[in-house]
Formats: sequence, C-alpha cells, structure tokens
Amino acid sequence: MAALQIVWFKRDLRIVDHRPLIEAAACGPLLPLFVVEPEFWRQPDASERQWMFCRESLQELRNDLLELGQPLVVRTGDVVQVLDRARRQFGVERLWSHEETGNGWTYRRDQRVAAWARQNGIIWMEIPQFGVIRRMKSRNGWAQRWERQMAEPLVEAPPSLQRLELIDPGVIPERPCQGLATDPCPQRQPGGRSSGLRELDNFLEHRASRYQRAMSSPNTAFTGCSRLSTYLAWGCLSMREVLQTSRAHSGRGVRSFESRLHWHCHFIQKLEDQPAIEFSDFHPFMRGIRTPDVERMEAWCEGRTGVPFVDACMRALRAHGWINFRMRAMLMSFASYNLWLPWRESGLHLARQFVDYEPGIHWSQCQMQSGSTSINTIRIYNPIKQGQDHDPEGVFIRQWCPELRDVPAIHLHEPWSLGGGMPEPIVDVTASMQMAKDRIWEIRRSAGFDRHADAIQRKHGSRKAGLKPVTSRRRRRSPSQVCGDQQLELKF
Ligand SMILES: Cc1cc2nc3c(=O)[nH]c(=O)nc-3n(C[C@H](O)[C@H](O)[C@H](O)COP(=O)(O)OP(=O)(O)OC[C@H]3O[C@@H](n4cnc5c(N)ncnc54)[C@H](O)[C@@H]3O)c2cc1C
Repeated sequence: MAALQIVWFKRDLRIVDHRPLIEAAACGPLLPLFVVEPEFWRQPDASERQWMFCRESLQELRNDLLELGQPLVVRTGDVVQVLDRARRQFGVERLWSHEETGNGWTYRRDQRVAAWARQNGIIWMEIPQFGVIRRMKSRNGWAQRWERQMAEPLVEAPPSLQRLELIDPGVIPERPCQGLATDPCPQRQPGGRSSGLRELDNFLEHRASRYQRAMSSPNTAFTGCSRLSTYLAWGCLSMREVLQTSRAHSGRGVRSFESRLHWHCHFIQKLEDQPAIEFSDFHPFMRGIRTPDVERMEAWCEGRTGVPFVDACMRALRAHGWINFRMRAMLMSFASYNLWLPWRESGLHLARQFVDYEPGIHWSQCQMQSGSTSINTIRIYNPIKQGQDHDPEGVFIRQWCPELRDVPAIHLHEPWSLGGGMPEPIVDVTASMQMAKDRIWEIRRSAGFDRHADAIQRKHGSRKAGLKPVTSRRRRRSPSQVCGDQQLELKF
C-alpha cells in the first residue's frame, strides 16, 4: 500500500469546507481518523453531554465519509500511539488537520504530536479553521485579515475517496473513558451536520428577523437565538459557510448575528495569544482575590441559591446544555461578585454544562464577567432586576422553580419579601454587590494597576472598539459615575 495521508479530525466534524480533507485527497489514499482520547475526556472541563453530542456527530461523519468511499476510522487511546501504529503498519506521508485553539491539555497533546511528526520525518499540515491567527505579532489589522479569510471560497467535499479495505473502521464507543460522570441533558440539541444545517436554515429563513428582540430573555432566547454555537464548537458547520450563507440574507437581525460571529474568533484569538488565561487572571492584581467556598459553590451549581432567577437559569442550563448570553453573564457575575467565588472553579462547572464549550470564548468571557480583564466595562448584574426585566410575569421562574409556583408575581423575584418563613437567599443580593464593587475599586485604584491594564489593552483589545489606554480613559471618568440600570455598571 502507498504511504498514507492521515486526516486527523478533531473539533471539525464535517466533510464540506474542510480544507485538510480536500488537500489530502489530492495527494493520494487517505485515512480519515478520529481518536477518542480517554485522557481528554477525564479533564475537568469535559462532560458526558459534550461526548453524546460529539458521538452523534461522529456517526453522521462516518456515514458521510462512507458515501465518498471510505468510512471514518475511529480508535480509542493516546493519539501519538495511534498515529505511530499507523506509521509502522502502513507508512504515513503526511498528517493533515485543522489548527485547534483548545484547552491546556490539547495544547500539550499537540506539542507531543508535533514532536512525533518531526522525529519520524512526517509533515504535519495544519490549516486554520477559524479567523484565528497563529503566532500573531500584533492585533493591528486583525479584523481585515478575518474578513479576508472569511471571504475565501468554500471548498466542496472530495468527489470520492479510495476505500482502504485492510483497515477496520473500528467502533465509536458508548463512553469515551471510565469514570465520566453521568450527566443527563434531556433537552440537548442533537449532534451532526444535518441538524446544524437545519438550524442555520431555520434561523435565517424564519427567526433572524426577531433575533435582536428575542435574544435577551430566557423566555424567547431558546427559539430566538441562532443556536449554532454547538455546531460551530464541534465543527459540524464551518464559520465561513455560516457567515457566507448569512450574508446572502438581508435584515438587521442578520447583521447583528454576523457581528457575533466576528466576536467568536476575536475571543478565541485571546486564548491563542495567551494560553495561560484559561487558568490565570489577565490582570496580575486580580489573582487570588476570591475565596473558594464549597457550600456557596454547591448551591450555585445546583440552582438553589434562593435567588429565583439565578436558580431558574442554572436549572434550565442543566436540562438544555445551553442558555443565552445575558443569562450566562448573569450566572457568572453572581458567582464572581455576589458569592465572591474564584472564576476558574465556577467556570469549570459552566464549561461542563455547556455542550457548546469553546475554551477561547469561555475563559475570556468568564474573566470578563468577573472583572479580571481590566480592559472591559465592569458589569455586576443585579439578578432581581434582570428577572423583573426579562421575566416580568415569572413564567420562566415558575417553569424551573416549581416550589415557587404559588408565590404571587409581585413577590416572585424576591420571595423572601413575603415573610412568613419564605427562605432567605444564601447572600444578601444588594449588600454583596456593594461589597464586591468596593473591593474591585480598591484594587483598581492601587498604584501600578493602569500600567498592566494598558499592556493588556495593547495585546488583546479590539481595535474596532477603538478603546484608548486605560490611563487616558480614567482621567475623564471617576469611579463615582455609576450607571445603575439593569446592571450596576462601572465604566472606566
Ligand atoms: C460566561 C460565558 C461563557 C461563555 N461560554 C461560551 C462557550 O463556551 N462557547 C460559546 O460558543 N460561547 C460562549 N459564550 C458566548 C455566548 O453566550 C454564546 O456564544 C451564545 O449564547 C451561543 O448561542 P447562539 O449560538 O444562539 O448565539 P447567537 O447569539 O445566535 O450568536 C451567533 C454565534 O456568535 C458567537 N457568539 C455569540 N455571542 C458571543 C460572545 N459573547 N462571544 C463570543 N462569541 C459569541 C457564537 O459562535 C454564536 O454561536 C459565553 C458567554 C459567557 C457570558
């Protein structure tokens, strides 16, 4: 058998607009490979619900590849050992994959794969899958490069693949490793490209016109948002195809949706440039300021903080594996400000809950909603006000907190105000917000804070937003300018 091209599928589970696949197919017989890596699934940010989505997507990918002539080959184990077995048995000429900006574990694993390829004289062709730039020197011009990459023509699937008769396709296991916690998610979106395409079509044809009105309230967001994040995170759809399909449609909702696709890559770029932000605060003065508290953490994770809107959101997230942006931000804000919990711990819980977990977006957002980036507006969401604004009749709260079914709407957002033995929340919402605000401002006023913030702005800040250095912004705004509408907002 001639030496093989291996196409290593990772979080890019599709055959359309898959450049490694089309380019490898032009070079000779290819082995399409997915490796189920037990160690990956044992990481603290992985969960069964993510695996179930991945598994369904693999089944569909296997069928799609079979239609081309060669089914997906699946092996379970350490990827370097799997690749080396293939090298010894068949000879491998090139390894093809998309670039991945994953978590710390996949980063180190990719370094091992690169070392293996070098040692064995195998060329590893890594091709960008998003508008994220490797080894970028400066953020200047990033948005223009993103536009250029997104405008490149989509690539079709190869017309056919040579069947590798001697290679057993292998089973897609029920479970990826031992000991992965059971994690029922009854209302999870189904995996697979065909479901992603249906969601995209349905959104653009029927739902985009009400996107902006529907995105904020959890009563409308489940059907009002595009719901494409999971298909993008697992690569069932390519970012380029989503953007180009969207641009063929018109309307304000569609434009607003497209700007969020841009954010997707903007946030992942931060992790690509500074992998440490998965574990460590952007701003050094924010490190170690919060205190772990097992009881508070458990109450938050289980949706029993006693603050109805927070608990309803957490319970809905558990059942769906998804919740809208504003509610994610509020959950994180509640954990980081009201409960004063370290964002890494609460962020890990949310990562496991999200079927669309995307490390680059996730850890940047967790830090942003905890005030540790130092370059973004601080938002402390008032969960009572959020509930009154986005669930005024309490429909969502009653759905997810049946124990509050009989509480009159006027008291539903603060049932303790009824008296008569109604349980108090685990923290006083207003007092804990004020305490968090005071603590954060004390840090921000300390000598040397702005110098670090300016360096973070230069490295990671959006050039589109045109943010000036913190030092020059600070002169025009004082900490006493607090905008207290639906969230307690401190601009600086
Ligand atoms: C604490 C926190 C954690 C988050 N973790 C994740 C995560 O792990 N994975 C993830 O995909 N998104 C994450 N987000 C961003 C955002 O909430 C989701 O992308 C969005 O809710 C997904 O739903 P949708 O596909 O219907 O989004 P839509 O509103 O329809 O947006 C379309 C697409 O744009 C991108 N997008 C939307 N909002 C953002 C944003 N604020 N930042 C970056 N990209 C965005 C997503 O790819 C999304 O699919 C997080 C937000 C917060 C506050």
